[in-house]
Amino acid sequence: MTIQVIIHLATGNAHKAREFQALADASGLAVKIVAAEKMPTVAEDTGTFVGNARKKALALQATLSAGVWVLADDSGVCVDALGGAPGVESAYYAGPQHDGVANLRKLTEVMRDVPAERRGASFNCVLVLRGPAEAEQIFAGRCPGILCMEPAGGNGFGYDPLFVPEGFAQTYAQLGDAEKNRISHRARAWAQFAAWLRAQRLA
Ligand code: IMP
Repeated sequence: MTIQVIIHLATGNAHKAREFQALADASGLAVKIVAAEKMPTVAEDTGTFVGNARKKALALQATLSAGVWVLADDSGVCVDALGGAPGVESAYYAGPQHDGVANLRKLTEVMRDVPAERRGASFNCVLVLRGPAEAEQIFAGRCPGILCMEPAGGNGFGYDPLFVPEGFAQTYAQLGDAEKNRISHRARAWAQFAAWLRAQRLA
């Protein structure tokens, strides 16, 4: 496939770049995802997924030549019984050290006495695309579900073992990468992005 669009991803995380490349390939788009060689450190302090993603996109854009496409994402799990927390704070729920295991343990404990009918939650992802001429596009993906009582499953990362997506009986961590990448919040945001790219005839 001839690559038509090169998109610089505002993350230093090679795993994330591979995941987005897999989403691009699965959607049949002529897109090459390039992880930032030197992603500037960005304080994720705007209080919204869009604000944080935009901040990351702008920070990377400032290091690159004009006219390139930059994509940034921000995501997290929003729990109904906690008023949407941890939400934008998902990465730092158990403290600033960004420890996924501690975050999962904390959410499991905080939700320990919450009954089944109040365990609704959703994973959310926002993508901010910034292109030539200050153009900006925002795409959002949401995967609703519930939190189970005890973590289950060994795949994935973060809160995956606690989250059962709607229509499934297993957690994100039990489903495996292929199934998760078909239904996840990131996949749903990517689908919006893919539709936009196609409509623009860019890829
Ligand atoms: P960020 O979008 O890289 O800033 O990640 C936000 C945080 O949300 C991660 O550190 C995880 O705690 C959580 N998170 C986002 N997406 C997922 C997912 O697919 N599975 C599990 N946790 C996730």
